[in-house]
Amino acid sequence: MHIIEFTSQSAGIYIHIPFCMQKCSYCDFYSLPDNPILREKFIDILLLEIEFWSFAFNGNNFQLYFPADTLYFGGGTPSLLAPDQIERILKALRDAKLLKADANIEITFEINPETVNFSYLSNLRSLGIHKISVGLQCMSDRGLLQLGRLGSARQNRQVLGWLQKLAFPCVSADLLFGRPDQTFQELREDFRTVLEQGVSHISCYQLTLGKSHELFHTLPSNDALADMYEKIDNFFSEQNWLHYEISNYAKTEDLISQHNMKYWTGVPYLGLGPAAHSYLPPYRFFLQENVAHYLRTDFQREAFHEIYITENPSVGEQIIDYFLGVLRIRRGFCEYDNTYNLFKNLLRQIDRMASWDKQLQHWIQMGWLLYREGCFRVTFSGMLQSDTMLVIVAEKFLDNATGKRS
Ligand code: SF4
Repeated sequence: MHIIEFTSQSAGIYIHIPFCMQKCSYCDFYSLPDNPILREKFIDILLLEIEFWSFAFNGNNFQLYFPADTLYFGGGTPSLLAPDQIERILKALRDAKLLKADANIEITFEINPETVNFSYLSNLRSLGIHKISVGLQCMSDRGLLQLGRLGSARQNRQVLGWLQKLAFPCVSADLLFGRPDQTFQELREDFRTVLEQGVSHISCYQLTLGKSHELFHTLPSNDALADMYEKIDNFFSEQNWLHYEISNYAKTEDLISQHNMKYWTGVPYLGLGPAAHSYLPPYRFFLQENVAHYLRTDFQREAFHEIYITENPSVGEQIIDYFLGVLRIRRGFCEYDNTYNLFKNLLRQIDRMASWDKQLQHWIQMGWLLYREGCFRVTFSGMLQSDTMLVIVAEKFLDNATGKRS
C-alpha cells in the first residue's frame, strides 16, 4: 500500500469524556447520563488505555508522532470530571511520554456552564489548562430553552466573568446560529456580550436537526441561513478577527486552535476513550461508541487489532481526506504539502496536470481561491463552495488517477 509520507509535526491527542448531565435534543455526540461510579471506572480504564499506548510504540512507526504537543478534552461534558481525575490523566499521559512535558503546549478543555463554579475553574488553571471552550450555544434563556439546554443566560455570563477573572489566556465560546426565529440582531448581541466578557475565539456552528425533531420544520430556509452566515463573516471582519475555518473565528493568529488545525491539515492524532477516532498513518482507527464495551476491554492483554476497529485508507481516500480538511480553512493547500505533491504526481502519471492547472485558474477567476506564496488560499466564497470543489477533485481528477471512487 502506498503510504503518504508524513511531516515531522507532532500529533494531537483527543480524549472523549462520554458523560453528560442530560442529553440535549439536537446533539449527535456520543454520551451517556453521568454516573459518578461509572465515571471512576471509566478513568481507571482510560489510564490503562494510555499505558497501552506507551507499549504500542515498540516496533512500529507510531512513536514518530509522539510526544504530542496538543491535547483536547472533549465530549460529552469533560467538566463533569473531578480535578483529581483530570490530574491523573495528565500525569499518565506525561509518564507514558505521550504528551510533551512543556508547560506551554496547547491544552483545551470543554466546559458546560451549569457544571462548574469559580473554584473548579481555578483548579483547571492550576492544572496548566489555559484554553477553555465554553458550550454557551446562546446568551438568552429563550434560546437555551428552545435548544433543551440545562443552563441559563445568567450562568453563561457568570462563567465568562469567572474565566476573565482567572485570566485564562484563551476562552473560546461555542454559539449556534440558525435556531428557529433567531434574528441576526440577536446573534450579534450574543457576540457583543461574549466579546465584552473577554472571549477571544468563537466557534459558531449552524444548528442541524434530524427530520424527526419537533423543530425541524421551523428551521430557517437555506437562503436565510446563507444570508446570516455572510452577516456573521462581516461582523468578525469589522472586529478585525480572523475567519480561519468555516465555523471558527479567532481574535488573533496565535489564538487559532492548533489542535483542530491538525485534523484539517492531515496531521496525525490519537483519540482515547469510546467513540474517539484516530489517524496514525497508515491507520485510521476507532473504538466502539459503547462505554460498557470500553470498560470490558483488556488493554493489558489484547493487541492493537483486537481493541480497535481499523481501516487502511487507500491513497485516494487519504487525498480526499486532505482536501476535505484544507478546503475548510483559509490556509488552503500549499505546493510544499506532502499530500498535495502526491496528488500532483498521480495527475502527472495520467497526464492530467495541465487540466488541473486550468481548474485552479478557473477557481481563482471565480474568486474561490487566491494564490499567494506557494499556497492556494481559500476565500470566503471559496469556503462556501468547498463541497463543489471537493466533488470536482474526487470525480474529475482522483477517479482517473486512482482508478476508483473514494
Ligand atoms: S452537553 Fe454537549 S455533548 Fe452533552 S448532550 Fe448537550 S450538546 Fe451534546
